[in-house]
Amino acid sequence: MQKSIERIAGDSQGVSYEFPVFRFEGTDKAASSAYLQAALHAGELPGVVAIDVLMPMLEKAEAEGRIKGDITIVPQANPIGRAQYHFGEHQGRFHLGTRTNFNRGFPLLAAPDVELLPDTTLGTADQRLKTRLLQLTIGHDIVLDLHCDDEGLAYLYVHTSLWPAMADCAAAMGVDAVILWDEDTDGTFEGASITPYLNLPAEVARFDRRVATTVEYRGILDVDGALAGADAEGLYRLLVARGVILDQALSTPGSFTGIVAPLENIDMMPAPRAGAVLYNVKPGDRVAKGAPLATIVHAPGEADGRTQVFAPQAGIILTRRSRRIIRAGEDLLKLVGDRKSADARSGTLED
Ligand SMILES: [Zn+2]
Repeated sequence: MQKSIERIAGDSQGVSYEFPVFRFEGTDKAASSAYLQAALHAGELPGVVAIDVLMPMLEKAEAEGRIKGDITIVPQANPIGRAQYHFGEHQGRFHLGTRTNFNRGFPLLAAPDVELLPDTTLGTADQRLKTRLLQLTIGHDIVLDLHCDDEGLAYLYVHTSLWPAMADCAAAMGVDAVILWDEDTDGTFEGASITPYLNLPAEVARFDRRVATTVEYRGILDVDGALAGADAEGLYRLLVARGVILDQALSTPGSFTGIVAPLENIDMMPAPRAGAVLYNVKPGDRVAKGAPLATIVHAPGEADGRTQVFAPQAGIILTRRSRRIIRAGEDLLKLVGDRKSADARSGTLED
């Protein structure tokens, strides 16, 4: 395993950022290669601690000559966001300099060719970081971007071109749900990882062996030793299932039995009022159409001071907010409906 340090120039003199990259060299050039990163949204740490558990497993495999494909690991992908504190609160989702989401604005290349990457010398630091991260992925068959939601189940976003071919990955990781999407106009990291292959001939794009996914490891507070261990095992199983690592002691994953739904089935449930949220449901709950989802206490102590929100259709609660203060129009939760949402704001995935 080799460790190197990437450096990203800041936007003013005297400021720069750095992050480590770990590389394992595979012994079989024909084997699938993998790229894993965590904490692109810098405060989302379940994937960071999962990688911390995974690394010694990879080092053991390397010592035993079982690493077949190249593996690149970036445990903390966003040193810019990691340093952003605003009045004591960490702000790792948007770049404070440009107000741009760290998981938007990645270049959507026409082909997986580093020559097509934009020159960001005169851009902003977050653009330089995004271009470099995307460059690190090029040439890898498997690209995993580890995030988490507010409070939620473990789930994946997957482009429709990779489904159901990626069902073995979902089963190996043991996630609860898979959300399928087919259009990314905003340049998420996952979108930028799959878009270059969409217009290539099938025998070049190799969708049978390609993996690109945003992994949502439950909620922001699910930074936990036992979960990190289970998630590391899941990542390891995926790498074995796809032939990146050899481990004959491991059985092949069974079929995926979780929820699979298109993004357009998700109801985000905007709050009708500002106030304090009392939830009637939690992630994993199955709800019927018309079931109470949440109550907004907008005028405490007054008659009619509460407003209830009901399920517009039957489905499963995928996520909800971690904070209980809400403004009118902000989303209360993600309900994966049994059918298309009447309020479909689908398009780009949500993370
Ligand atoms: Zn995220």
